[in-house]
Amino acid sequence: MTAFLSVRDLHVAFRTEDGEVRAVNGLSFDVEKGTTLGIVGESGSGKSVANLSILGLHDPRKTEISGEILLDGEDLLAAGERRLEAIRGGKVAMIFQDSLSSLSPFHTVGRQIAEVYTKHTGASKARARKRAVEMLARVGIPNPATRVDAYPHEFSGGMRQRVMIAMALVCDPELVIADEPTTALDVTVQAQILDLLADLRRETGSAIIMITHDLGVIAGVADEVMVMYGGRAVERGGLREVLKAPIHPYTWGLLSSVPRLDSDVEQPLLPIRGAPPGQRALPSGCPFHPRCDFTGEVRGDLCRDERPELYPATGHAGACHLRRGD
Ligand code: SF4
Repeated sequence: MTAFLSVRDLHVAFRTEDGEVRAVNGLSFDVEKGTTLGIVGESGSGKSVANLSILGLHDPRKTEISGEILLDGEDLLAAGERRLEAIRGGKVAMIFQDSLSSLSPFHTVGRQIAEVYTKHTGASKARARKRAVEMLARVGIPNPATRVDAYPHEFSGGMRQRVMIAMALVCDPELVIADEPTTALDVTVQAQILDLLADLRRETGSAIIMITHDLGVIAGVADEVMVMYGGRAVERGGLREVLKAPIHPYTWGLLSSVPRLDSDVEQPLLPIRGAPPGQRALPSGCPFHPRCDFTGEVRGDLCRDERPELYPATGHAGACHLRRGD
């Protein structure tokens, strides 16, 4: 049976003046209703680009997209702009990192939430305003009946992010894509927002994709994890398996650069050496090989010459020759 969201062999390339930028290179993943998939990777790993494709947010004149994106059985890559517009903010919603630039400074938060609701449901002004107050209450804004008439600059960063979440969820979306939703917030507020998303998922049974560069962020909220590097998945599996027994050296690196409560405070955090690959010229073979300390464990020049596929085909898998015992 096809998953609620099924992405198969997705490729996304941008035509630029300096040539083609291949941002996503054969990505496949599934998300089921009522579950959270955490997608982790450094900037440039293709994680946000892949998810913007689900919403049809790339400029078709400059973008080459192939593969398959099925949402509840509907082929989104074949959908026209009108259909995509109806899906965006309706069945699928996105929460971005930067709430200040995503909200209009000229309109009250209530009006902005109500407009989304009216657009997708045709509700009257009065009904939409009532719904905006309900949503503000639901995301934990105090005095929602009064705050509905406030402007974004009258809210703190954490409260604005709650407003963004209220706006994203106003039409009861079945899929929520949250792209670094807590990056700009301090740690306490971060935890509150992640708890809020987890509560909302439990209440509504929607599917959530949480995109982040920080494995620590998804540790408490994701069911499944996919680690991306060079526009591909290099590891995927259940949260516990990936955190407890990571397969890919890149995931090992991500984990050793995250502070842990049980680690020795004297023990230094180890950032991954080198920089992520440029998308114009991915390294040959395993794209991680210029940064990997384990190429010597693999026979011959396999790491440089042959790109490893995710193995095994299902369950907890890694795209590394070490995994296959090569
Ligand atoms: Fe490192 Fe080779 Fe595995 Fe790539 S395939 S992660 S270079 S050991």
